[in-house]
Amino acid sequence: MTDLRLATINTGAITHNVETLRALVAPALVMAVVKADGYGHGAIESARAAISGGANWLGIADLTEALALRTAGIDAPLLAWLHQPGAIFGEAVRANVDLGVSNIAQLAEVAAASGTAFVHLKVDTGLHRNGAALSDWHEFFDAAAAHELAGRIRVRGIWSHLANAGAENDAQQIQQFSAAIVMAESVGLRPEFRHLAASEGAIKHPDARFTMVRLGISTYGLAPSDDVDASALGLVPAMTLSAPVVSVKRASAGAGVSYGFDFHCETDTTLALVPVGYGDGIPRHASNRGPVTINGYRGRVAGRVAMDQIVVDMGDAPVAVGDRAVLFGDPSNSVDSSLASGSAMPVPSADEWATAAGTINYEIVTRIGPRVVRRYEP
Ligand SMILES: *Cc1c(COP(=O)(O)O)cnc(C)c1O
Repeated sequence: MTDLRLATINTGAITHNVETLRALVAPALVMAVVKADGYGHGAIESARAAISGGANWLGIADLTEALALRTAGIDAPLLAWLHQPGAIFGEAVRANVDLGVSNIAQLAEVAAASGTAFVHLKVDTGLHRNGAALSDWHEFFDAAAAHELAGRIRVRGIWSHLANAGAENDAQQIQQFSAAIVMAESVGLRPEFRHLAASEGAIKHPDARFTMVRLGISTYGLAPSDDVDASALGLVPAMTLSAPVVSVKRASAGAGVSYGFDFHCETDTTLALVPVGYGDGIPRHASNRGPVTINGYRGRVAGRVAMDQIVVDMGDAPVAVGDRAVLFGDPSNSVDSSLASGSAMPVPSADEWATAAGTINYEIVTRIGPRVVRRYEP
């Protein structure tokens, strides 16, 4: 029996993407970011695939996610960076998880954990999220140097995050980050890992790469922004979302479809019922717009996305119960059946769904819910 809702994860694509990106950014190292369950792809499987592709480090937001990777037997260098007061820093130290540290109070907590904590000092270079503010840098570095001298921590890294707010701002942040490195060294710190750029900065700005880049969305084969062409870079989307058609019916011109009748059939048409909805992370904002291919024919969501299901307007295309509907995947795999030979449409991309919903591809893949079975294919 096939799964009702299926996200097929091409782990070979993740491995290939990391290999490709490593070549692009060399000699900088690559940290593959697997937070939020590997952007919806599965953190453990994505981490393994990324390591096969040569990822030097893994990056993750939460300590609990980091510890889950360790429990799964993944022993690659690992950085976790988003902590609450009272976080389980002692467990992180025991599990050999490096800690992103953003302020003096957090530094003190990390230093108080038993053992020597490996830390990456985060400085705010303008994003105004985590990281020590410019006015606190000196005190922050002094405190870190004192803790290091006492053997309570080892400062392995210094890092920041770009706002991707245009070339001029990026250049300013790069300059600020360089200044932070100089200041840290002036108080005796020797952070060997210096990292600023995520996917967008790493791809666009060679001078933002420093000694390492943190790559999330590009690891999964998707572009970090509209002006980056992922396929031209050789990246391959790793996730394909599909479900079987569970009902097919003909409807007459003028018939209303789904809650509120936001959609009326323009002509007599075939409607296919596909069992994925906003409960699975399909954005309701893509009502009346989201693209779907069945048998190589392209249709679109008719009416509102419901919690468990969507109706797809397929026109006069041949569709039968049990056919596979593909919501998004790798558009270069154009044919999902031989029924449409000659006229097969590419499967939609996560980017098309993002456009349909007024959001970004990151949100499309990351929100795919737990009811969707992940199947891993090499
Ligand atoms: C999520 C995240 C990344 C990865 O960003 P992408 O744009 O997906 O490459 C890198 N660094 C930090 C701090 C992040 O939170």
